[in-house]
Amino acid sequence: MKVIGLLGGMSWESSQIYYRALNEAIKQRLGGLHSAEMVLYSIDFARLEVLQQAKNWGAAADLLIDAARKIENAGADFLLIGTNTMHIVAEQVANAIDIPLLHIADAVGERIAKQNIDNVALLGTAFTMTEAFYRVRLQENFGLNVMTPSQSERDIIHRVIYEELCQGVVSDDARRAYLNIIDNLSQKGAQGVILGCTEIGLLVKQEHSPLPLFDTVESHVEKAVEFALERDVTSA
Ligand code: GLU
Repeated sequence: MKVIGLLGGMSWESSQIYYRALNEAIKQRLGGLHSAEMVLYSIDFARLEVLQQAKNWGAAADLLIDAARKIENAGADFLLIGTNTMHIVAEQVANAIDIPLLHIADAVGERIAKQNIDNVALLGTAFTMTEAFYRVRLQENFGLNVMTPSQSERDIIHRVIYEELCQGVVSDDARRAYLNIIDNLSQKGAQGVILGCTEIGLLVKQEHSPLPLFDTVESHVEKAVEFALERDVTSA
């Protein structure tokens, strides 16, 4: 089994989902007392959030690169960045380390590509919904038409992520607001919804929505576990 490197703390509310899901998936695949071999480095999210607000992606990349190198030096065989938003600097991080980075958008894109879906809605932070790094990757690598909510809807989604979900608050009001937005996107032609923020799965679950939901943590974990257990041909 390869050692999974998880760069977490963005926020820690979702890192605990990763930790549990990675272990459960390994247990499911290998059975018994098996669990994931993992190096987790969890940053102080408040430090990063200030840089995000300022769109200081250079300094944000440096912060993540420092953490990624610690993970690599601690023995990880590959890296997961446990947030969609910070994949905005995924290329810089990948170039600064010698272990592979498994991109979260590729993980969810691969899963959607297996379905009969062309139009997919993307929910996430304002950065994930509006900057090109995520949408364009899904469009170019998987031929998906990526739809985003209106400006006022994006404001609601973003606010709930930072002021509630990343602080452990899961409210019925926020769930209703999200489901309303999903309904609007469905009426505009969305055939599925990407939960493109690693905390949204705390709030909205498949049973709440008539549209198929694609949780990015689930896809990321699935891809990571497949990779961790893949037979290494060089040592076979
Ligand atoms: N975890 C969130 C995401 O997946 C938002 C927190 C962050 O800005 O990293 O985008």
